[in-house]
Parts: sequence; C-alpha cells; structure tokens
Amino acid sequence: MPVQPLVKSQPCESITELEPLGMDPESIQRDYKRHFNYTLGRDRDCRSAHYAYTALGLAVRDRIMERWRDTRHLCSTSLCKQAYYLSMEFLLGRTLGNAMLNLGLKDVATRALYELGIEMEELIEIEPDAGLGNGGLGRLAACFLDSCATLELPVMGYGIRYEYGMFRQVIDNGYQVEEPDHWLRNGNVWELERPELTVRLRFGGRTEVISDGNGGIQRVRWVDTHDILAVPFDVPIPGYHNDTVNTLRLWKSMATDEFDLEEFNAGDYPEAVAAKNTAEQISLVLYPNDTSENGKELRLRQQYFLASASLQDVLRRWVWTHGEDFSQFADKNAFQLNDTHPAIAVPELMRLLMDEHGLGWDEAWSITTRTMAYTNHTLLPEALEKWPVRLFRQLLPRLLEIIYEINARFLAEVDKRWPGDGERLARMSLIEEGHEPQVRMAYLAIVGSFSVNGVAALHSRLLTEGLFRDFYELWPHKFNNKTNGITPRRWLAWANPELSALITETLGEGWVTDLNRLRELAPLAGKPKFQKRWQEIRQHNRQRLIDFVARETGVEIPANFMLDVQVKRIHEYKRQLLNILHVIHLYDRIKRGDVADWTPRAVIIGGKAAPGYLMAKKIIKLINNVAQVVNSDPDTEGLLRVVFLPNYRVSAMEVICAGADLSEQISTAGKEASGTGNMKFMMNGALTIGTLDGANIEILEEVGEEHFFLFGLTAAQVEEMRRHYDPMAFINRDEDLSRVMRLLETGHFNRFEPGIFDDIIGSVKNPHDPWMTAADFRSYVEAQKQAAARFRDQKAWTRSSILNTAASGRFSTDRTISEYNQDIWKLTPLHQLR
Ligand SMILES: *Cc1c(COP(=O)(O)O)cnc(C)c1O
Repeated sequence: MPVQPLVKSQPCESITELEPLGMDPESIQRDYKRHFNYTLGRDRDCRSAHYAYTALGLAVRDRIMERWRDTRHLCSTSLCKQAYYLSMEFLLGRTLGNAMLNLGLKDVATRALYELGIEMEELIEIEPDAGLGNGGLGRLAACFLDSCATLELPVMGYGIRYEYGMFRQVIDNGYQVEEPDHWLRNGNVWELERPELTVRLRFGGRTEVISDGNGGIQRVRWVDTHDILAVPFDVPIPGYHNDTVNTLRLWKSMATDEFDLEEFNAGDYPEAVAAKNTAEQISLVLYPNDTSENGKELRLRQQYFLASASLQDVLRRWVWTHGEDFSQFADKNAFQLNDTHPAIAVPELMRLLMDEHGLGWDEAWSITTRTMAYTNHTLLPEALEKWPVRLFRQLLPRLLEIIYEINARFLAEVDKRWPGDGERLARMSLIEEGHEPQVRMAYLAIVGSFSVNGVAALHSRLLTEGLFRDFYELWPHKFNNKTNGITPRRWLAWANPELSALITETLGEGWVTDLNRLRELAPLAGKPKFQKRWQEIRQHNRQRLIDFVARETGVEIPANFMLDVQVKRIHEYKRQLLNILHVIHLYDRIKRGDVADWTPRAVIIGGKAAPGYLMAKKIIKLINNVAQVVNSDPDTEGLLRVVFLPNYRVSAMEVICAGADLSEQISTAGKEASGTGNMKFMMNGALTIGTLDGANIEILEEVGEEHFFLFGLTAAQVEEMRRHYDPMAFINRDEDLSRVMRLLETGHFNRFEPGIFDDIIGSVKNPHDPWMTAADFRSYVEAQKQAAARFRDQKAWTRSSILNTAASGRFSTDRTISEYNQDIWKLTPLHQLR
C-alpha cells in the first residue's frame, strides 16, 4: 500500500517549526489544564481520575514529540547503521512514571499537580500495565530499549500490538483463574498510529516459477494468497536525560479492503465482514506460555506477521533512500532475534530480497547472514520451537521452499566438513524427519545468523557443550555470551526513590547511567551512620510492600518479619515447590515447639502459571492451601506468615523488589538461562538465597560468598546424579523431609479435597524428577537457617544489603547493551553524529 499524502501540496517547513515546550511547573500545569479542558473536554464535575491521568500523559507526551522527531531525522539524514530488536514480547509495564523520570520531569510535574490538588501517586496507579509479554524474555526486551535510548544507540524495537496482553490472574478457592486483559479499553496515550506506513503480507496460496522469456533468470511468484494488512503503532522510548527518543513499532493486523469486496460481490456480505475477524485475530491475543510452545497455527501466523511486517518496513525505508542498490545493506542494518520466535525472519528476508527485489541467492544469503543475530533464552528441550512442515506448506509455501534450499546448501557444507557422517547430517538438519517432519527453528536461526548468544556465562557455555554442540564445532566464531541485565532507571531510580536519593546524596547524580559507581558504596557498608539511613529507608520500603500485600490479599504481616520473596512465572524448574516444602518444614517446627532463636518471616510467593500447565496450577493451589492452614493456626502468630500474591506483573514488582529482604532464586542448576528478577532484588539491597544457576553465579562472583546464601547441586552434579537419582533415599535419610512429606501425604493441607496433591507428592518421589527437589532440600534448609541467623543480626544483614547494591553495577542493561553493540551491532552512538 503506497503512502497516501493527505493533501496534494507539500506541507511547508514552517509547520514543523516549533517553540520548545517549557519544562517548568507552570508550563506543565498550563498544558495539563489545556488537555483536560480542550483535548478531553472535561470540566470540574469530572470525577474520573482517568481523565486527569490522560491529561498529564498528554502533557508529558508533548515534550517527547520534538525530541522524537529530532532523533528520527538524525537517524535518517546521517544514514547511520541501525539495529532492530525483533521480539514477540515487550513487557513494558507502565509508561508515565518512567517517561517523567527519563525526561527529568518527575519532580516538576509532581509539584505542578500538587498545586492543583492532585496526588501524583494516584494518577500513576490509574495506568494499566502494558503486559505484552510473559516474563523475563519480554521484560528484557523492554529494559534493552531503555538502555539503547539512554546510550543513544539507533535501535528500533519491533513487536506486536496485542489487543489482549498477559491475562489477569485472580485466585478463587486457591485456584488460578484467568481473566482477559483488555488493556487498551480506556485508550492509550503512549502510541501513535501510522496508517500511512501500513504493510501488506500474504498467507496460503501456492508458488509458480516464471522465467524472463529468454531462458534467463527464473523468479518465483507466490500467488493465490490470502493477504492481510499490518498497521504500525509507534511507542516512544525516551533515553535518560539525553534528548534521544527511540521507537518501538508495534503491528496491529487488519483485513484488506478487497478481501471484503471479493465475497461481497458473491453476495455474502455478512460472511465477508465476519471474515475480517480472521485477519484481525492475528494481533488479538498474547500466547501465555512462558517456556513451552504449543504449536498452534495462529502462533505461527503471529510470528510470520511480526517478521514480515518488520522486514518490509526496513526494506521500504532502505529503498526510499538508496533505491534498489543493496550492496551496502548489510553494513547498515542488523536484526537481533529475541529467541527463535522471530526466526522466520531468516527465510523471509531471503524471499523479500530475491522475489521482491530481484537479488540472486548468493547475494541475498550473504546479506541475510551478515545482518541476522540470534539470542537463545532456554536450555529446556520442551521450549525449543519446531513447526510441522505440513503447517508451513499450507500457510507459507514459499518460505518452506526457501528453508529447504537453505537446508540443502547447509547440509552440503556439513558433508564437506565431515564427509559421510550421516548421523551428524540427520542431527543437524533443519528438518527433523519422522512421522510428522518438523522445521527446527533454533537451527534455522543459527544457520542464518552471524552471532548466536546465550544470556549468562553458564548458559552460553552449556549451549556450546550440549544443545548446539555440533554447530559450535562447525562455527565456533558465531557463539558468544551476553549476560542479561535490568535497567537501573525503572528498577532502582523509579522503583526506589528513597534509596536512590540516598545514593545520589552520597555519590552524586552520575550512577544512574554509570552503575559501576555503586561500588563506591562498599566502603560505607560498615559505617553505623550510613547503615542507619539505609535501614530506615529499607524499613519504609518493607512497609510499603507489607501494605501492598495487605491490600491485595488481606494478610497482615508484622513490621519486624523477614520478607522472604519468590516472584516469577510458576514453573517446576523454578522450584516454587522446594520453597513451599521449606515453609511446611518451618510450620512443622513451630508445631513441634522448636522455635528457639526463631526469625519471624513472611514467605511471599507470586507468579502466573500458563493456563494449560496443570502441574504449575496445582502448585499455586498448594501454596494457597498451605497459606490458609498456616495463617489460621494461632501457634504461628508472630512467627510465620505465608502469602500467595495474585497477578504478579511489572508494576507489582516495582513495589516488591524494593521491599524484599530475601530473594529466592532456587531453580535446579542448569535450567534457568539467566534470570533477571534476581538482579532487581540485588540492586535494591535484598540478599539472595540461590543455586549456582544462570546469572546467580555472576551475582555470587560480584558480591562474594559471605553475602549470598548458596546451596544445592551444581549443574554438573545434577547431570551426574540424574543417572542414579533416588529421591526416597533423600527422604528416608532426612527426618525433616520425611515429616514434611508425611504432612502432605496425610492430607493436612487438603482436608476437604482428598487426593488433589497426589501428583505433586509423586513428582518429588519420582526417580525421574528432572528438578531434583528432594536432593536439594537439606542444603536449602541449611542455607535458610543461615539467612535467618543473619537477619537476627541487623547490623550484619544491613552490611550485606549495602554490599549487594554496591556490587550490582554489572547487571545494568547499559553494560549488556554496550556489549551487544561492541561485539554484534557496531552502531555509532547518536551523540557522535550530532
Ligand atoms: C523481572 C520479571 C520477570 C523475570 O523474573 P525471573 O525471576 O528472572 O524469572 C518476570 N515477570 C516480571 C513481571 C518481571 O518484572
């Protein structure tokens, strides 16, 4: 669809000449009132805080606009290299507070509203989370965008504008119930629709070969397709205090007009209108699976929708400025694939370059393999995407042809390197043969990319030794590590304003963009005066979390309790079950009267289960039932509280990570690729109890063993033990664990619902339990004892807390993104172009 100018004449320059908007309280107040009265048409009788929120959002957005335009112009006129972050998920959370923080408007706007009798905190709470992601992978994408803009790197995010984001979780009788999240219901001030940039894409149909008539170049046409439109919505991504505003472009699917007409002419008007739904379904809803794929056709449609729309968008911009000359394309563009979800971009870029732009195979392949880079996010085999060849043939026949051709050429290369090694060829083939042949998306991504990275040191090493070993032997130079991070703007400066103020008072402003400066806090960790300030602030944040828990669940937690927190997606490998076994052990100790030197604690667990993941849902039920029994037993008064915190999400984590004392990072070693929740807690001064898994290892390296409660088998020990694992031996040998299992087996936590926890009990006792819960129980309990003892010594705890924050600098996404840029993207920061 060509760009449609709204008016025939060219708009004159003067239209875009603007006076910069004031950044002072008076100007904000004036614009706030203007939007409230004129843009939204409200008056003093308006009782809905929604309009107040929207008016402020618009006033802040106005101040983003000129910076956004200038960043855009700089990128396009400088012809600089750009990178594109392709991700099916961007877990953005709320935008208003972050935008004000990054623009330096937070205090100014708070004052401006205060004078009008409006509390900023109330308005902040109006905004729904943009929950366009499941968990860590989607949140990482959001943190990356913040760091790219802050580092002034020309990086654009591409994603899907799901009408329904991550479901809202409510708990009914201890069970998870999913409710749809219609987050756009009240409008969204943080997006701009760009209908003039609509892209067309195809599904279905068949391919035909056409020659140029003189037996010359043959080209393939993809015909008889069902086409749909992708309409972009742009979300501004402001950098921190730097006038750079990058773009996140989210695609919404729409029916084409002729799609309607075709059927209309056949006399089926209602059918035609109804058919629009199929097209519009594509961007309707986020799939709520965190770590497993379920092979649904609609999901493959979504993946192709994202990849094709985004690539066409980039190629269109290229042709506008360079014409059909692609010789420099690979030097000026890089695509980062966030997991295999957008890996179909590899054959799609080939298709677009060959079929739409007339390039030959070799030239197209050279461009593709110099622009694509792939990030792997998991070692779990069930999360590795495979799509049935049959589905590809039906939905994307042209792409299947290209994948076959890529595979044939690739296998020829393997055969040259290892002649006659048939087993290796079968192992490495992009097509898994069998009853239902499948396309292995991770292999497609590796073959099509010049860079393959894992997300923590251990994870990247395990990839080269295990899952991708054959590919590592073939192309060792492609493989690298990029340890994840989190943005310190949202996760410290915004989430913890009191601690941030203390840090700024102590170190000056620079730490927000140079997080290694937190190291300078270390010498103060033992100083009584500084400890006192630290403790007062932490107590304030702890109380904020306690109040949040009371509001959300009704459970009251006394102010002196240790806040022991595990929030993350519910998954067996993350071992919420191990946590709850420890809770049952603590409860058992209370009932036995073994409470000498007790540390009162509240165990807070939160997280969503994929709706189809029955074991995860059972674990939620178990946590709720244990909480019910423990909290209603008078013997636990003043000693133990257990809470399941419903609807875990980004805005909740902003409160949780600032208030937590103990961070639970207890996955089976070798299973958590990196984790980023662990970093949010550490940065805010929580101590970690954790296994040697993912980035925990690097956290431990930075902070030192004394300030981290380490337990459990190593990844190597887990693999070794797998062959002769005997959970019953662990249970029988350990009196505490036996008692815990007995409480479960006698139905102590399910008096009126017999049998509901049988699968859970069975999983702990199963010699094939991949998560080895029983094996780690004893060392977990011992580490918990150490944590409890440290908490009773508040001076020692506070020192460790300060040292954790001081050692967290490495986990800023500014560091991660600098590494991506140095090793993979090689972009010039915009400030060097201004
Ligand atoms: C950080 C974050 C995650 C990732 O947590 P892990 O502990 O690394 O699994 C998931 N969900 C939300 C809402 C987050 O903020």
